[in-house]
Amino acid sequence: MTLSSGDSKIIEPLLFEKSVPDRQGFTWPELDVPASAPLPSNLRRRQAPDWPELAELQVVRHFTRLSQLNYSLDTHFYPLGSCTMKYNPKANERAASWPEFAELHPLRPDHLSQGILEILFNLEKWLGDICGMDAVTLQPSAGAQGELTGILVARAYHESRGQNRHVVLIPDSAHGTNPASVAVAGLTAVTVKSTADGCLDIDDLKSKLSSDVAVLMMTVPNTLGLFEPKILEIARLVHDSGALFYMDGANLNALVGLVKPGDLGFDIIHVNVHKTFSTPHGGGGPGAGPVGVKKFLADFLPIPRISLKDGLYSLSEESPKTIGRVRSFQGNTGILIRAYCYLRLQGAQGLASISENAILAANYVRVTLAPLFPKMPVTPCMHEVVVSGDGAYGPGVKTLDVAKRLLDYGFYAPTIYFPLIVPEALMIEPTETETRETLDLFCETIRTILDESRRDPSLLKNAPTTTPVRRLDEVKAAREPNLRHTRGETSPR
Ligand SMILES: *Cc1c(COP(=O)(O)O)cnc(C)c1O
Repeated sequence: MTLSSGDSKIIEPLLFEKSVPDRQGFTWPELDVPASAPLPSNLRRRQAPDWPELAELQVVRHFTRLSQLNYSLDTHFYPLGSCTMKYNPKANERAASWPEFAELHPLRPDHLSQGILEILFNLEKWLGDICGMDAVTLQPSAGAQGELTGILVARAYHESRGQNRHVVLIPDSAHGTNPASVAVAGLTAVTVKSTADGCLDIDDLKSKLSSDVAVLMMTVPNTLGLFEPKILEIARLVHDSGALFYMDGANLNALVGLVKPGDLGFDIIHVNVHKTFSTPHGGGGPGAGPVGVKKFLADFLPIPRISLKDGLYSLSEESPKTIGRVRSFQGNTGILIRAYCYLRLQGAQGLASISENAILAANYVRVTLAPLFPKMPVTPCMHEVVVSGDGAYGPGVKTLDVAKRLLDYGFYAPTIYFPLIVPEALMIEPTETETRETLDLFCETIRTILDESRRDPSLLKNAPTTTPVRRLDEVKAAREPNLRHTRGETSPR
């Protein structure tokens, strides 16, 4: 198997295919200590491992070339909506890789781990402050796991009051992880409709609130990138019915420093540290989904809890009402260290300007693109703008074709066909870290592509033509991924 483009042009063979028997990439220094006795023969391999044998430069060039086959934030504008692909300062990466952190053993006793415990303790406090929540757990390792944790906390709370509430209400525009987390938590997801402008349908909500409802889960800003204008009324309705109000805060880029979800009436929130607080997360990389709760829910949070007593930080598993562990050790600490550094670098003022600039950039794109799209939303958006491609393209052209053509022009494509309630959706999230020149060039490129779609649709239908691989069969790539290399398999060289 070889990574090759659609027309079989070889892009980069595997290291195994470049291997030459007995070639060495390095030499061992002379042994300067007495040679120890050899390992017992029953512990030794009978055959040398089947590893590639290469010179150092072959390896360096191989990985450098591979790293350049991809789009990345370091090389391209990456307006992927609902994902906050913003630039994350390298300083935070650097701090997280310091051996003092990277080599910390998770089983080190508390008295030898005061530094990291202090960092985690403060991070909990700051995230609680940003979210308007009284207690935070850093344990969950993804947004989806944060959702699961939050729902388990809500379930435990209702059970502790002898109530059997098994329904979780979720708007139809929600991220797919919401209903999935509810199902994993053993509860039942029920959909609440959205109105034509993408907000929650209050009448539908009223008809579904009952003594069976445990939680209403809402994404703010909602999945159309809009702020829910009736949020306080919704909070009141939910609380009057005895249910809890959960915020999916995966995308906090428009609220951080400006609005505290706790002040809006939310009881539980998860945030995606890897979207808002400085961890690059392409390719499904590691993340963290801390969960914040109001005081009356704090006892249900997962263990271990970090506490500070007499100047000493410690981890405690003693928490009688806890839902238990959701993760090994102390969570994804590498990610949490990045978040800690990011918050310290920004300060309160910096945090507010993140939101202000993210909102400004999204609205700049919205207004600049408005003349091109007949169904462009007229109300201001928050950190992202959802555009319907309906009626904007030449005959037979789809949003998918526009997205592929953008790749030819050196832009990563926005999220497409999400949320499902918007026909031919393009969900554009420029983020606060892009310059006006980049946003202008992006909008100008969209204009060019829409012109092409009327003049010569084949330019879009055949796109991309300039990328290492041409248009992929997306269904086959997802359903029948062929990722296995078989030794001796000949490649189409
Ligand atoms: C990204 C996202 C999630 C899921 O987060 P993961 O870390 O990918 O599990 C949930 N909800 C919303 C609104 C999101 O944007």
